Amino acid sequence: MSESGSSTQPLVGVFGGTFNPVHYGHLRSALELVERLQLTQLRLMPSGQPPHREAPECSATHRAAMIELAVQGEPRLACDMRELQRLGKSYTIDSLIELRGELGAGVGLCMVLGCDAVLDITSWYRWQELLDWAHIVVIARPGWELPGEGEVAQWLKRHKVEDPQRLRYRPAGCIAIEELRPLAISSTEIRDLLAAGRSARYLLPQSVLDYIETNTLYR
Ligand code: ATP
Repeated sequence: MSESGSSTQPLVGVFGGTFNPVHYGHLRSALELVERLQLTQLRLMPSGQPPHREAPECSATHRAAMIELAVQGEPRLACDMRELQRLGKSYTIDSLIELRGELGAGVGLCMVLGCDAVLDITSWYRWQELLDWAHIVVIARPGWELPGEGEVAQWLKRHKVEDPQRLRYRPAGCIAIEELRPLAISSTEIRDLLAAGRSARYLLPQSVLDYIETNTLYR
């Protein structure tokens, strides 16, 4: 897609993941990104059947319901259910193509990825086409570093822009790396705490914890 030269295009973000369960590491990063990049909206998009990892024990419906609870009252964040509704494996490229069809060619689309997700991007289905449909915004995550050399490092270098304003000049094709507030929280840790009968309070919204309790998840 070509540069329009205009800096007034709206930018929409999509943040994929298992969200098993969603936590403040996801939510705070999402909100900071909305404000930093002035996104019209950032959609948290839970994967249905992730291609790279075993299907989570917690159903996609529960994971999406927890996101819905977590973003309630914050209109700039939303839950995007498309990967739950699609049969078979959830491929990100298919979601980006669908989103592009809905948004139209002129709207900027940013796919948000944590640093850890970027490390194995070359194993993603049609990974080299991702930038044809969206920008990629990489967010730093405590405990993870981007590679200094190799295929991923070269890909980052080739497409990276220093000024995030560049994301407004065209609808897709750039990579921005953003340092946000580091929050060392992971879903794995939350699941482990709950399985051990310990408290996960203050690591995720209370409404999500209540949902987990009511539905006896992660025990
Ligand atoms: P798990 O521990 O089950 O692997 P997770 O906490 O890594 O889960 P995911 O749902 O796998 O959460 O992550 C979705 C996206 O959010 C990924 O791109 C991941 O890098 C990013 N992410 C997760 N936790 C954080 C965090 N604390 N800070 C920044 N990014 C995060």
